[in-house]
Amino acid sequence: MIDREVELLAIGAGPSNLALAVALEELAPKDLAANSLIIERAAAVEWQPGLLLPWAKSQASFLKDLVTLRNPQSEFSFLNYLFTVGRLDDFINMASFTPYRQEISEYFKWVANSLSMVSLKLNCGCTAVEPRRNAHGRLTGWLTRLADGTTVSSRYLVIGTGRDQYVPPVFAGVPARHLVHSTQYRPLVAGLDKEYPYRVAVIGSAQSAAEMFRALQTDLPHSQIAWVMRSIGIGAYEKTKFTNELYYPSYVDDFFEGHPDGREQLLREMHRTNYSGIEPPFVEDLYCEVYLDRLTKQERKKIITMTDINAATATADEVTLQLADRRTGAVTELHRDLVFLGTGFVREMPALIRRLGDALGLDEIQANRQYRLILDEPSSAACYLQGVNDATHGIGDPLLSVVACRAGDIVHDILAHRDGMADGGGEAHSMEPLVSAGTRT
Ligand SMILES: Cc1cc2nc3c(=O)[nH]c(=O)nc-3n(C[C@H](O)[C@H](O)[C@H](O)COP(=O)(O)OP(=O)(O)OC[C@H]3O[C@@H](n4cnc5c(N)ncnc54)[C@H](O)[C@@H]3O)c2cc1C
Repeated sequence: MIDREVELLAIGAGPSNLALAVALEELAPKDLAANSLIIERAAAVEWQPGLLLPWAKSQASFLKDLVTLRNPQSEFSFLNYLFTVGRLDDFINMASFTPYRQEISEYFKWVANSLSMVSLKLNCGCTAVEPRRNAHGRLTGWLTRLADGTTVSSRYLVIGTGRDQYVPPVFAGVPARHLVHSTQYRPLVAGLDKEYPYRVAVIGSAQSAAEMFRALQTDLPHSQIAWVMRSIGIGAYEKTKFTNELYYPSYVDDFFEGHPDGREQLLREMHRTNYSGIEPPFVEDLYCEVYLDRLTKQERKKIITMTDINAATATADEVTLQLADRRTGAVTELHRDLVFLGTGFVREMPALIRRLGDALGLDEIQANRQYRLILDEPSSAACYLQGVNDATHGIGDPLLSVVACRAGDIVHDILAHRDGMADGGGEAHSMEPLVSAGTRT
């Protein structure tokens, strides 16, 4: 049974699909924009809420907002947001291109509230997506199953759910009461007793681990913090204005046209510009904090480098981490109340998309240049993937850098597809009766 039918359903109200909503309002005819729905499993529109820390700043220029790079005249720009809420003078006076993360998050919420045609539904998690077929087995749409047991049918689907969190296998047996992925940091810590002297470990050496390491010092001020990492120490992102050009939306074409070897080199050499490191000024701040800790002999913070975690076992009261020193081979134990994982995200496609790929019988999940999932069958439906196409669309794909232009690309492709003009697959929509939701007949 279908509970609701829309022409376009977008899953996830992060920046990718909010940019899509803006592009729909600005570029699509009213009958499409007004028949588009975004669903979001959270209770509010918030940007990366797990690490929405008061002092954390965006790493992208405010000009890489939801729309400016596509349409600098848009009313949905960050600058218009600042103007509308009366903070433009203050922001200019701060003289920074990188706003606080909480300010960008407020901007996203303002955009969501400013939409006049596209609808948004919060507290609405999707659990599965299935292909819909007509009586002849032809793919004609998608059936999206929601956490409350209802379904939404759509001809177009845009998946913008971010990536799945990565929990290293060694932690598989550790219960959730001892284990906190960075995506859950804020809500979890808010429920803890601030006065308790927790023994905590932070795992990983990149930005999210560093942010938790810093935040824990004020959020749990009496805790003993051990920061455990495999690397030789905390490194900074290695980027220059030259390599930053590879994050331009215009670079997507160059990357997409590249040979596999060329793409591989680009991703490998660009890795340290955004991963496995920390923003350079933050490295300085962290070092000062650790220095002060040693100077004042508080010794509450310990950084344990070149160390593998071989095992993690939990009892009712604590987790025991078995640490293996890569330099000496020595194995020791670390007993902790809580383990905070700054271990990032799974590199492969999110499980929701992989399951859809299985249902479609696809050997490989790939998007074309317009971010449309490549199907190996004729179809009058289309599905678009946002933020998970780094392998084909470049290092900027999961970042704010491309959201504005990508949203425009997707909307233009949908409009062409609707008219039967899209490259490789657009067909006029058949209104034949639908009989099945599930694998291909
Ligand atoms: C802590 C942190 C800081 C970052 N800082 C920056 C930065 O400064 N600059 C930058 O360019 N990039 C940054 N990034 C990268 C980040 O991925 C992008 O900025 C951006 O958030 C990607 O947008 P998105 O909409 O694709 O995904 P997300 O922002 O992850 O949004 C996905 C949305 O989908 C929702 N969702 C997920 N599953 C479901 C489901 N099954 N049903 C319904 N809704 C669902 C989620 O609740 C979420 O709201 C940061 C990432 C992290 C983790």
